[in-house]
Amino acid sequence: MKEIRIIKLRNDDTIDYAGEELVKYLAEITSNSHDFKIVTEEYESGLEKEGLYLGHLSDFKLDHYFKLKDLDLDDAVYIDIKEGRGIIAGSNSRSVLLAVYRFLTEAGCRWIRPGKNGEIIVKKALGEINIALKEAASLRHRGIVIEGANSYENVADIIEWAPKVGYNSYFLQFKEAYTFFNNWYTHVNNPTMVPESFTVDKARELTHKVEKEIKKRGLIYHAVGHGWTSECIGISALGWESEQHNLKPEQYNYLAEVGGKREFWYGVPMNTNLCYSNPEVRELMVDHIVEYIGSHDHIDFLHVWLADDLNNHCECENCKKDSPTDLYIKILNLLDEKLTKAGYNQKIVFLIYYELLWPPKYEMIKNPDRFILMFAPISRTFEKSYKGFKGNESIPDYVRNKMVLPTSLGENLAFLEQWQKVFKGDSFDFDYPLGRAHYGDPGYYKISKITSEDIKSLKAIDLNGYLSCQEQRAFFPTALPNYVMGLTLWDKDKDFNDIAEDYFKNAFGPSWKECKEYLEKLSYLFDIEYWCAQKPWIDEEVRENMKKVPEFVEKFRTVIEANIALENSCWKKSWEYLIWHIDYCKLFAKFLENKAEGNDAKVLEAWDELKSYLQNIEVHIQPVFDVYRFIQIAEWKFRLKKAK
Ligand SMILES: [Zn+2]
Repeated sequence: MKEIRIIKLRNDDTIDYAGEELVKYLAEITSNSHDFKIVTEEYESGLEKEGLYLGHLSDFKLDHYFKLKDLDLDDAVYIDIKEGRGIIAGSNSRSVLLAVYRFLTEAGCRWIRPGKNGEIIVKKALGEINIALKEAASLRHRGIVIEGANSYENVADIIEWAPKVGYNSYFLQFKEAYTFFNNWYTHVNNPTMVPESFTVDKARELTHKVEKEIKKRGLIYHAVGHGWTSECIGISALGWESEQHNLKPEQYNYLAEVGGKREFWYGVPMNTNLCYSNPEVRELMVDHIVEYIGSHDHIDFLHVWLADDLNNHCECENCKKDSPTDLYIKILNLLDEKLTKAGYNQKIVFLIYYELLWPPKYEMIKNPDRFILMFAPISRTFEKSYKGFKGNESIPDYVRNKMVLPTSLGENLAFLEQWQKVFKGDSFDFDYPLGRAHYGDPGYYKISKITSEDIKSLKAIDLNGYLSCQEQRAFFPTALPNYVMGLTLWDKDKDFNDIAEDYFKNAFGPSWKECKEYLEKLSYLFDIEYWCAQKPWIDEEVRENMKKVPEFVEKFRTVIEANIALENSCWKKSWEYLIWHIDYCKLFAKFLENKAEGNDAKVLEAWDELKSYLQNIEVHIQPVFDVYRFIQIAEWKFRLKKAK
């Protein structure tokens, strides 16, 4: 067996891993016909030696091909492989890993969904592989954010998959990501499964394991977000559940006064703001964050947000003198000062969301290099994309604790534009197609197209990337939305139809065209705004369309059944998921049809049927569908009574 050398020009965990991944997949591609050996050597003129070289652009003196603003943050790849030998390089170690995956993709491999059964590995002789490309990512920030109910494996799988399709960042929300693991291990919303006991310590242990996976790949690690407001007074912010807490009397004075009372907002620490005009409160919060960074210096971007939820800001005499945003900026500036003093250079991500959508009136961010603006239009529509949109001419006046959520893109973008007048630093979009809205499109085609258009429009609205706040199991019936997102963030000029065609070919095999047409048509029968409760409940069009669903999906059953025995394990799995998907669509349509008709008794009946179907099949669709989250959103948006 011929020995092939993989020559690393430097050693670090990420380059080591890039080498291992290259060997793993090349062995599979070439059906183990070579003995791949990884070595570390200095680069000389090099290429006369037989082998594949892995290193930074600078190791090969290839930097001049790219104009990158920040070598650590900006990804670029250079691949020059002739007959299976040559150079695979990246602007930093993470980019080298991305370059390995770009190389494998170009060679014909595909990453259809997370997990081994989502891989299409081409078979080729090494000598037949010739690839030359130079690419810089279109956008700096390309990440996935944890939400929903997840096992450790679900999270590890999506982190493994993310760089294969171009992502470079991962965001583990809240200090221990407790709620997202707890939701799974205790099987919230699924009584058919036996709950396991789960603790904060266990969450911390899983978080450490996840962090290792993030670091191994050199992904940019985003952390925390909400929670500082209660954590700094010693109360953990674990999730959005109501809790009983007894504070010392003086501590109550730190909490925001709303409606004449200082207490936890509906009992939820995560959603409780503080009395930010109080300098003692600002010091407390900032000192807590500085201390946290001191003991967590592996975090790259720390998110410092105020409480979640809205209309929960302090109404005391002093707070009323300033807008929530002005007080927020006072905190951010103090934080920057203390971090600088302590010698910490972590980036701080601040959030434009709910009342913080209003730009500051008086305060200014003093050190823009420290900060990254994150625009989070959580209440936006997903029936339309940012394409061609501009902000409305003006924004409404801020009235304390009486804000109404902006739905239209014009309203949302108006806030962003006002902010951009006062903050010129780095920024990205924090968006939600796969957190909530996607369930309103069970074909997953329309939401993929909207996501593609959104990402292509980011430069026009002056944002340098996108983090997807999402369910980690959002691949039912396909992973097309997440896939399109990753590939388009890498190359914004990639045509949506080209990606979709290639995706379906690789995900479904010979009958891919029929499948694509089926899911596309199915998509357009559903209305995402209706699911998101962004329009009136009585809706004739929704009712008529939902009536068509059962016959439409049943008609496709024969195609699915004809493909389910395919030998290719990736194709087979894709078709298997579609079998479960048929009854899901029928029951979901029945539920929506009754709702759109205003038949409340039947709505509850249909809901119970749909819910119990999903609970019972979760074991078959666990990696691709988050039953907890679907039920949680439906019961909240549609005001459904919990089933007994
Ligand atoms: Zn106050």
